Amino acid sequence: MKRYQDERERMVTYQIANRGIEDERVLETMRSVPRHLFVSQEVRGNAYADNPIKIAGGQTISQPYIVALMTELLDVHPEHRVLDVGTGSGYQAAILAELAGEVHSIERHPELARTARETLESLGYQRIKVHVGDGSQGYPPAAPYDRILVAAAAPAVPQALLDQLAPGGRLVLPVGPRYSQQLEVWQHIDDQFTRSVNIPVVFVPLIGEAGWDD
Ligand code: SAH
Repeated sequence: MKRYQDERERMVTYQIANRGIEDERVLETMRSVPRHLFVSQEVRGNAYADNPIKIAGGQTISQPYIVALMTELLDVHPEHRVLDVGTGSGYQAAILAELAGEVHSIERHPELARTARETLESLGYQRIKVHVGDGSQGYPPAAPYDRILVAAAAPAVPQALLDQLAPGGRLVLPVGPRYSQQLEVWQHIDDQFTRSVNIPVVFVPLIGEAGWDD
């Protein structure tokens, strides 16, 4: 729909490009994925606003700028196999699938996983597999991954995710206390893991063995 396309254009210009996201592939992807179709009818009119949006189960889709920033930091290319932890609505998985070869997305809430799968199928995304489980342990059957993105906050970087990161791989995730975290970028280079810290963020908690208690 023209209205939503215009809103996406404005979202990319004012919220994303203006704040310093430069990767043209990321900007193009944010312009093309219909964010409004990943949320319920009631909040659809606000889908392109400069804030997170509520989805089912007390969860949220991150603010557009944060989705774009994490995607840019992840530096995804067509030859990559990607793990997306915390499927939620499936929006971030769709963004990743536009840039990667194969996306595995894991969600702990079966109902959220089911809805996301339906949305993604209806939009024709065939290279995304949605799994149900505790993503704080990664998703071993499809490991290793060239890229891993976590959209829920962990108290510390989960060892399983580092273990499932291929050589040359990158992991982007929020780490820190329950109500305030830092966005961290981990790289697997020459048998070593390096960490750099990006910006302060607030995410819903990663609940699981290497996350927080339910
Ligand atoms: N990326 C999503 C938004 C994520 S919100 C989107 O684009 O819509 C964070 C999601 O992480 C929630 O859906 C929550 O249920 C899920 N989650 C929390 N802990 C998890 C875990 N251990 N494994 C998998 N998913 C988890």
